[in-house]
Amino acid sequence: MIPQWRTEEILRGALRRLGVQVEYRSVLIALAEDETDAIATIRSPDGTEHIRSPYVIAADGAASTARKLVGVAFDGVTRDDQRFLTADVRTTQLDRSYWHNWSRPDNPAARVSICPLPGTDTFQFVAPLLPGDNPVPDLPTIQRLFDERSDRVAVTFDEVLWGTEHRANERLASRFRVGRVFLVGDAAHALPAAGGQGLNTAVQDSHNLGWKIAAVLRGAPEKLLDSYEEERRPIAARLMKGLAAPDDRGEVADIFQLRNNYRGRRLSVETRQTPGIVQAGDRAPDAPLRLSDGSQLRLFEFMREGNLTALAFGDEATKGCRVIADQCCPADAPRILDVRNESSSTADALQETYGVNDDDVLFLIRPDGHIGLAAEDHFAERLNGYLACLTPSGMARR
Ligand SMILES: Cc1cc2nc3c(=O)[nH]c(=O)nc-3n(C[C@H](O)[C@H](O)[C@H](O)COP(=O)(O)OP(=O)(O)OC[C@H]3O[C@@H](n4cnc5c(N)ncnc54)[C@H](O)[C@@H]3O)c2cc1C
Repeated sequence: MIPQWRTEEILRGALRRLGVQVEYRSVLIALAEDETDAIATIRSPDGTEHIRSPYVIAADGAASTARKLVGVAFDGVTRDDQRFLTADVRTTQLDRSYWHNWSRPDNPAARVSICPLPGTDTFQFVAPLLPGDNPVPDLPTIQRLFDERSDRVAVTFDEVLWGTEHRANERLASRFRVGRVFLVGDAAHALPAAGGQGLNTAVQDSHNLGWKIAAVLRGAPEKLLDSYEEERRPIAARLMKGLAAPDDRGEVADIFQLRNNYRGRRLSVETRQTPGIVQAGDRAPDAPLRLSDGSQLRLFEFMREGNLTALAFGDEATKGCRVIADQCCPADAPRILDVRNESSSTADALQETYGVNDDDVLFLIRPDGHIGLAAEDHFAERLNGYLACLTPSGMARR
């Protein structure tokens, strides 16, 4: 229900706070790479420039130029029978408490839907287009479509702020990585509209990839980046078949995407004989904490403070984590929560949430909130082995 311009404003603001400025009217027109870098050629009103960078993240949408430049197939269908005209419109003649819908009694496909956009004085106008409809999204067209489909209800539109025609696409990129180029979001998958999963999937692609690129730039093994496609492509492939379809391991999506998991993937190391309800690869569930210093916070807040979080149940698990954390550079050391000592009054609830009994168990939570390692023994050794995949080794370790 958030207008598109507002979504973009929020994202631009977040980028500005991180010191990033979006350059408009600048387009990627060529991509190359050598042993050290990718080289992107950008054309802007000021001319053409070549930008060298270790990696390129292609977030350039379903028509991705980057995907075409690296020659990745985008197989699937374009649904010419599912075309829509969408516009932000202004009128003072509709009640803003309701979403208004009309359709012609003789042709239910000739619909129009007008939804108030909260926090604005505008509405979103959506009309499916029928065969032969090729409208320009301007004021006379929108008024005409409305009059025809509402049987001339007395509503006049005053202004069209923005409008477009779009067609449904259902397509999946054959690869999510080619050399130094990574495809994310609609560049990698144009999902069926049902369930509204496109943006959510796109954000999670980037969330999955971002910390891995950051780790590799700090010196972690390059093959960490291969896990991006391995983890994210099956999720997009499953959504492509619809929300109810199982993936290659028989898992079914949930509309909130909170149960999406990377169980069984290379970066999900489950070493317990009998894994509990929460396993390596799962999104770590949240829980309330009351720490021994009296502070109350959510586990998610605790996790935000660190890059990696070690959730240690029991003294042996905690000791193993401390030994390894002491050997790491501060940037790579997991933040340890010694659950039974540091959060004793909430330990039972946390154990129940994570399906842990009174034994020692360690969960290492990755920066994107998924559990990388779950272990019940040899804690220091297992943690050390796991961290070798995500953090710089040798000289970079203390
Ligand atoms: C009508 C409609 C309703 C939707 N509703 C939902 C919903 O309810 N929930 C949901 O999760 N998803 C929804 N989606 C899908 C969602 O909008 C997309 O999945 C999401 O926007 C994808 O984000 P993206 O950043 O990957 O690509 P985009 O949002 O397409 O962004 C790509 C960007 O790259 C830029 N670009 C393109 N080519 C170049 C180039 N050569 N050089 C430089 N820049 C370039 C474009 O200008 C654009 O800014 C909806 C989509 C539509 C059309």
